[in-house]
Amino acid sequence: MTGRHFLHVPGPTNVPDRILNAMHVPMEDHRSAEFPKLTLPLFEGLKGLFRTTSGQAFIFPSSGTGAWEATLTNTLSTGDQVLSPRFGQFSHLWIELATRHGLEVIVQDEEWGTGASPERIHQALEQDRAHAIKAVMVVQNETAPGVTSDIGAIRAAMDAAKHPALLFVDGVSAIGSIDFRMDEWRVDGIVTGSQKGLMMPTGLGIACMSQKALEAGKAARRNNPLRRGYFEFEDMQRSNKDGYFPYTPSLPLLYGLREALRMLAEEGLDNVIARHHYLASGVRAAVVQGWGLKLCARDPKWNSDTVSAVMVPEGFNGADVIRRAYQRYNLSLGAGLSQMAGKLFRIGHLGDLNELMCLGAITGAEMAMRDIGIKVEPGSGAAAAQEYYRAHGEQQMRAAAE
Ligand SMILES: *Cc1c(COP(=O)(O)O)cnc(C)c1O
Repeated sequence: MTGRHFLHVPGPTNVPDRILNAMHVPMEDHRSAEFPKLTLPLFEGLKGLFRTTSGQAFIFPSSGTGAWEATLTNTLSTGDQVLSPRFGQFSHLWIELATRHGLEVIVQDEEWGTGASPERIHQALEQDRAHAIKAVMVVQNETAPGVTSDIGAIRAAMDAAKHPALLFVDGVSAIGSIDFRMDEWRVDGIVTGSQKGLMMPTGLGIACMSQKALEAGKAARRNNPLRRGYFEFEDMQRSNKDGYFPYTPSLPLLYGLREALRMLAEEGLDNVIARHHYLASGVRAAVVQGWGLKLCARDPKWNSDTVSAVMVPEGFNGADVIRRAYQRYNLSLGAGLSQMAGKLFRIGHLGDLNELMCLGAITGAEMAMRDIGIKVEPGSGAAAAQEYYRAHGEQQMRAAAE
């Protein structure tokens, strides 16, 4: 097909030309005296992205899932209890991974379309007088139902219960797009991947750990620790402190990461977050006011600024919308996963995006829906989003310029 492909799955996201060009590098000696000039600033840049001064960042050649695995296996012991709300496919997968590693997961099921409940977490921790629960694992932005949980409120709930559990957060579809504050919320482990808010290809799993989590890891190593080989933090720490890696790092991805961090710093992290909220609000206007459809998110407080899961009307299959959009309009939309399969389609709106790119996705989804017989008014979604962007765009640009 001619023209640009419209990539609107919630990751991987569009890779800007600046990052593509930055990755076009010859291979070099990763043990040279020059190499740390590339790598040491990356660790500092990542700390800025996670808003931490005391945390320690790790960069693995993996996807986000590898960084989850590293976080758990480097901090916990076999048989430890962990508490985890489940309200979508990614929280489900994190629980699976923890179980496979021999952790005992206490699952708090929440209805899909809602998120982690600070009240229930508080209750479970308060009942755990013996402090058997060693960690709470939460997905900040559940990419499957398009729901964002309030990590600050979860920290407050843990504090109110006076419970010492570690707080681990999956930020794969939130970091670099949705507000996240590692130090302020005293998050002990945050995980992301390169292919979402960082606007890069897949291939890096990134974790940042608090000093408390690293200390817990040292204690776990003396007490039946989970096993790890490739993902050993201590090997990383030994090499990373001088800017090296225990194995051959992916050079293009490290150059890409440098460019991504530069781009986010140039725009300003606060502006990046505000832009995601603004673009997402236009998409939501299209879905709700324009098409008259429902989001999977049950209440505006759960709305995700990086992905909107659009419920298709009764009698239709979201997979048909996705297939039509892909085959006829060169537009990639996200599928409904697991219990939401067929019931929805997802519009990803994160990373390197602007209004007209979002309008392209909205228009394509609208045409695909009409093609399969869903009775949305022609142009209704695009019109609602246009009016939102026209009304709020000046304010958005002024704020970004300040
Ligand atoms: C994409 C995603 C993941 C999976 O990350 P991979 O990089 O595919 O391993 C995990 N959690 C969330 C919330 C995601 O959106």
